[in-house]
Amino acid sequence: MSYDECYVKSVVRTINDWPEPGIAFRDVTPIFKDPKALRMVSDSLITRYIDSGITHIACIDARGFLLGSIIAYQLNLPLVLVRKKGKLPGDTICQDYTLEYGTATVEMQTDSLAEGNRVLIFDDLIATGGTVLAAATLIRKLGAEVHEAAALIDLPDLQGSARIQEAEIPVYTLLAYEGH
Ligand code: AMP
Repeated sequence: MSYDECYVKSVVRTINDWPEPGIAFRDVTPIFKDPKALRMVSDSLITRYIDSGITHIACIDARGFLLGSIIAYQLNLPLVLVRKKGKLPGDTICQDYTLEYGTATVEMQTDSLAEGNRVLIFDDLIATGGTVLAAATLIRKLGAEVHEAAALIDLPDLQGSARIQEAEIPVYTLLAYEGH
């Protein structure tokens, strides 16, 4: 099934003024209720990374987990988690960052990656880019390299994908929306 951007965009739902006034929340959960859309986005990501040389997928809490695990399973690659603070047991490292709304901290288990690993970061959406950049900092602290950051959605007006590219991390997204 070939990727149809208009179809996938028609499935993503926008919820205005949530979780705060002024935010247009791009809700990707309907994609998981629509097998055709899920297959289109999964297949296009799998095709992109099949011969990329990546060794791991690092997916971001929580919607990043859903597609991240499909990609990792289909590419037969290990999946590692970038989680919100306090969710991961064992030894962890953490990084603070600023969100489009508020501040947060992400964590990874210290044994999730090692030197020589080449990692794809995956999340549902890039807004200010803070989450992906915090994940990249953790991945690099663990000695691994970031191959690329991928997301379903980019909000280019917030400059996040530009910030990530300035940090020398290529960015790949399937859909873009104007505004916040
Ligand atoms: P940022 O760190 O600013 O790039 O924010 C990205 C993270 O926040 C992702 O994990 C998204 O799930 C979430 N997020 C930020 N803004 C939105 C938005 N307008 N709609 C949906 N999710 C968002």
